Amino acid sequence: MLQQINEEHDMTRQAVRRFAKNEIAPLAEHLWREQEFPYAIWKQAGELGFLGLPYPERYGGGGGNWLGFTIVLEEIARVDCAVAASLMANSTPASLINNYGTEEQKQRHLRPILEGAQVGCIGLTEPNAGSDAANIETRAVLRDGRWIINGSKTFISNSGTDITGPVVIAAVTGTLPDGRKEISNFILPNGAPGFTYGRKLQKIGWCGSTTYELFFEDCDLGDEHLLGQVGAGLKQTLSNISTGRILIGALALGILQGSLERSIAYLKERKAFGKFLAEFQTLQFKVADMAVHAHGARLMLYDAALRKDAGQRFDQQASMAKVFATERAMEAAHQAIQIHGGNGIMSEYPVSRAFGDAKVLEIVEGTSEIQRIIISRELLK
Ligand SMILES: Cc1cc2nc3c(=O)[nH]c(=O)nc-3n(C[C@H](O)[C@H](O)[C@H](O)COP(=O)(O)OP(=O)(O)OC[C@H]3O[C@@H](n4cnc5c(N)ncnc54)[C@H](O)[C@@H]3O)c2cc1C
Repeated sequence: MLQQINEEHDMTRQAVRRFAKNEIAPLAEHLWREQEFPYAIWKQAGELGFLGLPYPERYGGGGGNWLGFTIVLEEIARVDCAVAASLMANSTPASLINNYGTEEQKQRHLRPILEGAQVGCIGLTEPNAGSDAANIETRAVLRDGRWIINGSKTFISNSGTDITGPVVIAAVTGTLPDGRKEISNFILPNGAPGFTYGRKLQKIGWCGSTTYELFFEDCDLGDEHLLGQVGAGLKQTLSNISTGRILIGALALGILQGSLERSIAYLKERKAFGKFLAEFQTLQFKVADMAVHAHGARLMLYDAALRKDAGQRFDQQASMAKVFATERAMEAAHQAIQIHGGNGIMSEYPVSRAFGDAKVLEIVEGTSEIQRIIISRELLK
């Protein structure tokens, strides 16, 4: 399977690795401390084609594939998971607009978030609906040809920045014959009347990625903001969710690889009891486990991405890869701190910052429990 990684993928990896080392690493601690969106990095990532790599060139994308984008996220997360998280969160509205938007919506909303002029958000989660996304309460009512939206969203990544652009939100637009909620998606431009931000949420991970609450009070939108058909919202979101799981897995792989490399370097430089730490077998085994898990996660994630690129089914593979990579990343982040001793607790050490980042990955894009429900349901059907 790894033979399918071609010269172009290798070139992408080298280019992103250089960018992450030269442009992201020097700012990572500052972004974490200030809980700040990485404006300069975002602009450059757009110019270099990293944001839009798997999207069509006619909308400002790179015409590449999902394996390539998985590698982009892996390499960025190897240095700073929060920056990679912003790319990942931007790709969800990008995919929805690309797959279901009109030509006009794509030109207006997709191009700027692929080129780095704006950043996109996905607004699904609400205070009373996270894993249970079909239970959202935000409502959109059609009145005199205009959609009036009332409700709220929470935990929305990439929101509230100076360059936040389209926010694709899900809202209830009716009731289906079987009693379930009919859900539709809307493209909300930043600054739409009746759309305001609540608190900037303070987090233990993904600190260099902004997260706000969103409020809609008689938010008034023209019909051109509806994405696809009325009632197609949940189907649109679900059709894209397995891709999101590969991408969150890629962030986890970056943490695994980064934890491994930082741990190896520290074992070779730090001494205790007159010996390098690398000489203690109990610590050697920790990096051996990290290497095994990084290799396994990489194979699983690339397999899922290759299936997607080939137009094959990949839902199960994406869920398995997501749960494996994120849980092993959490473990690797934990053990990397252990290897670094007290230094590992200090925020100036990247291993300490990766700990909170890894925890987020077990929760977003379907928690570990939800992945196991999906996997076991398929096994037992
Ligand atoms: C940093 C961050 C960024 C985020 N960014 C976004 C974003 O950009 N857009 C967006 O829409 N959302 C975003 N989210 C929200 C995220 O998708 C949700 O937090 C996630 O889906 C879990 O939902 P919840 O928090 O409501 O937890 P809950 O659904 O309340 O789950 C709580 C616990 O119950 C478990 N549980 C729930 N249902 C079951 C079940 N049936 N069986 C067994 N266990 C179950 C869960 O696994 C979890 O352990 C973000 C969250 C975070 C933390």
